[in-house]
Amino acid sequence: MRNVIIIGSGCAGLTAAIYAARANLKPLVIDGYEPGGQLSLTTMVENFPGFPDGILGPDLIENMRKQAQRFGAEFHSGAITSVDLSSRPFKITSSRETYPTQTLIVSSGASARMLGLESERQLLGHGVSTCATCDGFFFRGKEIAVVGGGDTAMEEAMFLTRFASRVHLIHRRREFRASKIMLDRAHANEKIHFIAPAMVESVHDVDKKSVEVLHLRNTETGAISQLPVEGLFVAIGHEPNTKVFHGQLDMDENGYLITHDGPKTNVDGVFAAGDVQDHRYRQAITAAGSGCMAAIEVEKFLETHHEAHQPVA
Ligand code: NAP
Repeated sequence: MRNVIIIGSGCAGLTAAIYAARANLKPLVIDGYEPGGQLSLTTMVENFPGFPDGILGPDLIENMRKQAQRFGAEFHSGAITSVDLSSRPFKITSSRETYPTQTLIVSSGASARMLGLESERQLLGHGVSTCATCDGFFFRGKEIAVVGGGDTAMEEAMFLTRFASRVHLIHRRREFRASKIMLDRAHANEKIHFIAPAMVESVHDVDKKSVEVLHLRNTETGAISQLPVEGLFVAIGHEPNTKVFHGQLDMDENGYLITHDGPKTNVDGVFAAGDVQDHRYRQAITAAGSGCMAAIEVEKFLETHHEAHQPVA
């Protein structure tokens, strides 16, 4: 029997693990499909407090993992295939085994939707980004592109005009999903240049490990064109990783977990932290903060229910 299982090993899950481990709860962290979460896909992180010279995303994650292990957190790899939250102990089933646990922290994150191009994958962190707040600063004075036609794309494009000399907004249709107010603001911004209807066909130059030019296809005429840019921001939405919780945990219409009173879900003893319950802030530091809150709530829950076990072997 576990005191607490933490699903997901991004910033939220690892912070929860540090706090739960220091409370002597011997947490078990199950890594999931993307160990380390979105930070492990970025390069330099300059806005995480405490690192005046910045820190590489993968290094930050590795440090957090070591910190959690130092206090006794245990890690298992593998993704969760099903959960039974109908009564306690909860049953968490991974590709390896079924674990009974008194409490659960869901920090399985949200994955940025990608275009699905091989060149995009290879240049992720080398000019291709999914987070303007994280990486916009690196494109000061440069010409860049944003893909997407929703509010996120408008917001990211506007934010990026603070740094970039020009932002090309590429969308596959003439109609935009973005709200009128956001679309109007983007249209009014002189630095934003709309390219629609168009799709990115490929990103170059993979061999040079940098973004230099996009090949675009007009989705109506099929015409191919080239767009020289130094960065590409993919802003076509996020998918919260909540499939296994359908029917058991309350979610909004986009699949994000609904929390109340901090990290509490609709099931007593189940808490949620990080991007899986936050489509608004989505920052490493906010994820870490909510992971801390979840671990403290777990501690209080176990105290109240007199269920904290001696650390399991
Ligand atoms: P979204 O509304 O789902 O929009 C995603 C956009 O990406 C759509 O325009 C879609 O094109 C495009 N897209 C999806 N897959 C694509 C692909 N494979 N290739 C090219 N384009 C693709 O997602 P979002 O913009 O992230 O917004 C999510 C939610 O958060 C929305 O409810 C939004 O209103 C909200 N939000 C609000 C604010 C704000 O109010 N400040 C800011 C950000 C987000 P199609 O339109 O052709 O499908």
